[in-house]
Amino acid sequence: MLITYFDLSQQGTTITTSRIRPHQGATGDAVSRAEILGLLGQAGPLSRGEIARRLGLGPATVTAQVRRLMNDGYVRELPAGARTGAGRPRVPVELIADSATVIGMSVTPTSVMLVSMRIDGTVADSRAAAFNPSADPLGQLTAMVVAEQAAMEHPERVVAVGISVSGAVDQALSTVRISATLNWRDFSLGAQLQQAVGLPVFVANDLFALTTREVSFGLGRNKDDFLLLGLDYGVGLGIVNRRRVFSGSDGSSTEFGHMSVDPGGPLCVCGNHGCLQVYAGLNEVLDAAPAAAGRLSLAPLGAGRLSLAGLLRAADDGDPAVVDFVAGVGQRLGRSVGGAVNLLGTATIIVTGQTTALWEHLDGGFRRGLDETVLKFLHPVDVTVKAWTESEDAVGAAGLALHNAISLNVPPRAGG
Ligand SMILES: [Zn+2]
Repeated sequence: MLITYFDLSQQGTTITTSRIRPHQGATGDAVSRAEILGLLGQAGPLSRGEIARRLGLGPATVTAQVRRLMNDGYVRELPAGARTGAGRPRVPVELIADSATVIGMSVTPTSVMLVSMRIDGTVADSRAAAFNPSADPLGQLTAMVVAEQAAMEHPERVVAVGISVSGAVDQALSTVRISATLNWRDFSLGAQLQQAVGLPVFVANDLFALTTREVSFGLGRNKDDFLLLGLDYGVGLGIVNRRRVFSGSDGSSTEFGHMSVDPGGPLCVCGNHGCLQVYAGLNEVLDAAPAAAGRLSLAPLGAGRLSLAGLLRAADDGDPAVVDFVAGVGQRLGRSVGGAVNLLGTATIIVTGQTTALWEHLDGGFRRGLDETVLKFLHPVDVTVKAWTESEDAVGAAGLALHNAISLNVPPRAGG
């Protein structure tokens, strides 16, 4: 069986196609300098020995990667601590938090959320702008990057730009193969924007970007294998196997929502019937809730779609029909994710996306669905729900840019 990895830990952005690799754990060539930076950003200065212990890496690997990070100007040594016992004094390594900045943008059909993020993962600025994907999108995005840099005290410290979009993206080329929501097809956004702004630009599927960020800078930092379930307008599943984010041959591996779960179900936008998406996508949930709950009064007459806040309110109020409906959505999700857990042998799940606002009401059904499907020896399944914010996808894009810039050894720019 052939399997394709987008290997973020290697020099150069390459798509490699190979047979399934032997287990390498979190060591060997799978190690990423971004993981070391992520750890230092969260935990503060640490000795090389402590970095090795916390990341489960060999001392020689850590020594080599820290040397490269020092050469690039991302970290520095602090004065050695007092000598304790017979061992050599420990020299703490510190992240230079403002040595580099990345810009992350999440692009939607109506707006772009932009953040600038320091190397320690701190978001320094966050703003939203109106966007029209069919009217010179390159010009609009270029203007946003230029304006953001112009507002910075140290624009020369920006090392990369990350962009997340919904759809299938060829990440090696940073080309959007197809995005139904943006109506883009074979748009070489990365190459064109890179030329326009003079910075490395990395474009990825939104859930892939979030998953990559999670590996290095988030909750997944200490996990070799996990699944990131994205519950938003789309339903996606990011797959991390031995700290590599699985991409699929055309960047479509996150399209978990288009797994058909009911052959007699409604038609999905993808052309198939009964996809998980038509039951658990945010808009689909909001559209189906009033009728499914037998409470057409939930839908504001003539005011368009029920809001997520409105649905949450009805569930919080304990309306039994609404509570049942939402639990049913959770159960469908749980059953589908249970299949992925069995398929991959990965029983660690992180849940993200704006639909997680409903999690309190989804949770019972979700766990029931897992119980009904997951092989007994894979229990218990570890489920963690991430707090979601409006800038989450943009921060994911910034995390991807930071991860790639550091893994691909893009040095801080001179003049800072
Ligand atoms: Zn579908």
